Amino acid sequence: MAHLVAGAATDVGLVRSANQDSYLVCERAALYAVADGMGGHAAGEVASATAVAALEDTYLADASATPQALARAAEAANRAVFERARTDPAMHGMGTTLVAVALTSGQGGPTLAVANVGDSRCYRLRDGELEQLTVDHSLVGELVAQGRLAADEAEFHPQRNVLTRAVGVDADVPVDLFEVDAFTGDRLLLCSDGLIRELSDRAVASILRRRPDPDEAARELVGEARLSGGSDNITVIVVDVIGDDDRAAVASQALAAPGAADAAAMPDRADEPADDPAAERTGTVPVVADEATSVVPVITSTPRLAPPPAVPPRPPRQRLVTVRVVAFAVVLLAVLAAAALGVALYARGTYFVGVGAGGQVTIFKGRPGGLLWFQPTVAQRTGVPLSSVVPADQAALRAGMLESSLADARAYVQRVQVPPIPTTTVPAPATTPATTVAPPASATTTVAPTSPATPPPSAPAGTP
Ligand code: MG
Repeated sequence: MAHLVAGAATDVGLVRSANQDSYLVCERAALYAVADGMGGHAAGEVASATAVAALEDTYLADASATPQALARAAEAANRAVFERARTDPAMHGMGTTLVAVALTSGQGGPTLAVANVGDSRCYRLRDGELEQLTVDHSLVGELVAQGRLAADEAEFHPQRNVLTRAVGVDADVPVDLFEVDAFTGDRLLLCSDGLIRELSDRAVASILRRRPDPDEAARELVGEARLSGGSDNITVIVVDVIGDDDRAAVASQALAAPGAADAAAMPDRADEPADDPAAERTGTVPVVADEATSVVPVITSTPRLAPPPAVPPRPPRQRLVTVRVVAFAVVLLAVLAAAALGVALYARGTYFVGVGAGGQVTIFKGRPGGLLWFQPTVAQRTGVPLSSVVPADQAALRAGMLESSLADARAYVQRVQVPPIPTTTVPAPATTPATTVAPPASATTTVAPTSPATPPPSAPAGTP
């Protein structure tokens, strides 16, 4: 079951003496709204509070809970403010913006309905990307929507504060109404212009991504707007979608379908200078004495209950993040594997001659002492005791003498051994008494043929 959780915060700011913003968080009806009032004295506060109260009363009284019910509630809010201004001279000419979101029963199931009049805004954060869903009903906002003014030019346009539509100024007002699919994890942001005049969209998105709790996110947004100047009242509602009734697949198709774009592309103002704090908003109400106000005819009349002014449909979102993550993981694994292979070759690709078990000269494979998890192993036991090594080489051998191959290691072992002492025996006459006492004839006898009777080879038998 689709479910919404919201957090809200509001602040008067650092310049204004009163907070003319009002907001509504109605959990039981999943109805949320922000209104930014305009008018002298207390009129602005009355306008925004009146609009929000009428919106809630009307919507709750309508059991259908449909997107159309939200539009009717916004129209009722307009009538309530207009009537109050008409009957109370002190409130004459007051007006307010109104942006509202409700979880409604659309034709295809639960859907988020967004109603908007004025230049308070509704954004959606999805997959970490912030997108402005509403179109500002201001002079520059209309021009931007028509493609006649660049978004970055609008930020500094001298008439950017002039509204073309507001609640309560006329007996009737066109209400922008559209529906957006609700995905689990989607986050909606409703805000008055006091937020967006102080913080770039990138800064807003960063806070929304960093703060999972909607209440904390709302408070931090308002706090940061104050720190950035607080030139206007600041009001924020953060609405999280918890559960989407498995409608993600349907919504994905809707996103990909031509004409499904329900959002205007959002300019990236991260690198732009902050707004001029002295630039204050002007209203649509000509009778307010303490503000430079103006009334501008509505440039484009949007039919009631129609989608917002057409903007070029956005192409289906590419899941680049997933591709990038996979590519990064593959590259990282390849680098790690190459590094491990290099270490292994370095650690195991050599030999050294050292002292092994029993004090024998031994040829090892690896590096003396090992490297990381690669320990040396015995390649060959030479059977040569260390004592047989030239003393001058024994110290180096104990430390481990590196050789590039097994053959070199064997050759080294051959070189460092103490040369063997010659074992040639020298005859010692004194030790052979028989020799000294034997008569010469006897000696002759010992070297003569052992058998004198044997005929000499030169006299073979049978010779005449
Ligand atoms: Mg404002």
